[in-house]
Amino acid sequence: MLQTHNADVLVAGQGAAAFAAALYAARYQLSTVIASESFGGETAIGGLIENYPGTPDIDGFDLMLKFKEQVDKLEVPTISRNLEAVEPNGDRFVCTLEGGDIVDAGSVILCVGRERRTLGLPMEAEWTGKGVSYCSTCDAPLYRNKEAAAVVGGGNAATEGAILLARYAKHVYLIYRGEELWRPEPIQLKVLSQIPNIRVLLNTNVTELIGTDLAGLTGIRISRPMDDNEKIEIHAEQTEPMNKSREDDHGKDVIDLDGIFIEAGADPRLEIPNMLGLDINEETDEVHVDRGQRTSMPGIYAAGDLTDGTSLKQTVTAASQGAIAALSAYGYVLAGEHHYEAA
Ligand SMILES: Cc1cc2nc3c(=O)[nH]c(=O)nc-3n(C[C@H](O)[C@H](O)[C@H](O)COP(=O)(O)OP(=O)(O)OC[C@H]3O[C@@H](n4cnc5c(N)ncnc54)[C@H](O)[C@@H]3O)c2cc1C
Repeated sequence: MLQTHNADVLVAGQGAAAFAAALYAARYQLSTVIASESFGGETAIGGLIENYPGTPDIDGFDLMLKFKEQVDKLEVPTISRNLEAVEPNGDRFVCTLEGGDIVDAGSVILCVGRERRTLGLPMEAEWTGKGVSYCSTCDAPLYRNKEAAAVVGGGNAATEGAILLARYAKHVYLIYRGEELWRPEPIQLKVLSQIPNIRVLLNTNVTELIGTDLAGLTGIRISRPMDDNEKIEIHAEQTEPMNKSREDDHGKDVIDLDGIFIEAGADPRLEIPNMLGLDINEETDEVHVDRGQRTSMPGIYAAGDLTDGTSLKQTVTAASQGAIAALSAYGYVLAGEHHYEAA
C-alpha cells in the first residue's frame, strides 16, 4: 500500500553528502528521512580511501558503513527508493519516490551525485580498482614508483590528473581523442610543458584494455601507432591547437601500463533540479549553490558532487557540504530563512 510520510527534511541520496546532511539535520532536531535506493555512493566503490581525515587507509564501503551507523543511532529512517519528483506545495514539497510513496517535506536536500562517463570498453567495469580508476586525485598516490600510467581525457581534470600522476609514476601518458586539449587553463599548459615524464598523445583513442583476470589491467591498445620518437610540443603560451610532429608511422599501438585513469567527465544528475527549474552553472552543468548550499529555490538545498560548491570532488568536501546544507534547511524550516546568493 502506498504511504505518505511527513518530515521536516527529506535527504535524497545515500552517499557522503547525504549521510552528513541527515546527521546534522537530525541533531538540529528536525524530523529527517533519507530516500535512496542504493547505499554508499561513489565512496563505497572507491576502494581504499587514504585521504579521509581521521580514518587512514579505510575501505570506502566500510567508511560509508560508519557514516550510516552514526545516522542510524539517531533513528533516521531510510526509505530504499529513489526520489522521482519534487513539487512545491505552498511552503512545503510533495516528494514522490519510485513506486509511488510520498514524502511531504518542509525542505529537501539533494545529494544525488553524478554519473561518471566511461570508455565503454570490455573489462572496464571488471578491472575498476584493478588498474582502472576514475579519480586521479584519489588514486594517484597508489602509483608511486610504478613504471607507467595513463590518463584519458582532454579537460582540466585530465590535465590536472596527469600533472599529479607524474609526481608518482615514472612515465605518464595523457591521451585525448581531440586535436587539442579542451579549453586548457594557461597555467596548466605551462606546468604540463615543463614536466619531462608526461607524454601527450592527441588524436588518439583507447581501443582496448589489455590484462588478465588475476593481474587486472596491464596495458592498452590505442587507435594509431605511436613512434618512440614521436614528440608533441606543448608551449605554455599556446592557446591555439597544439601541433604534433611525428617522424613516421611505424611505431607500436600497445602501451604497457600499471594503471589507467579515465577522466572523461561526469554528468551531474539534473533530472530533479531541472524539474524544479533550479539555477544550473552553465560552465560546469552543476547545480549552482551559494555558501550555504542554498539553491535558487527557497527550501531546496544541494550538496556534494552534484553541485558547483567546489571543484574538489571528494568525500570530505561532500560531507562538509551536507552538514552546511542541513544548517540552511534548519534556518528555513524554523524561520523561513533563505537568502540565496546567485552566481
Ligand atoms: C573510483 C573512485 C574513487 C574515489 N576515491 C576517493 C578517495 O580516495 N577519496 C575521496 O575523498 N574521494 C574519492 N572519490 C570521490 C568521492 O567518492 C565523491 O566525491 C563522493 O562520493 C561524493 O559524494 P556525494 O554524496 O556527493 O555523491 P555520491 O557518493 O555519488 O552519492 C550519490 C548518492 O545518490 C544516490 N542517488 C542517485 N540518484 C538518486 C535519486 N534520484 N534519488 C535518491 N538517491 C539517488 C546514489 O545511489 C548515491 O547513493 C572517488 C570516486 C570514485 C569514482
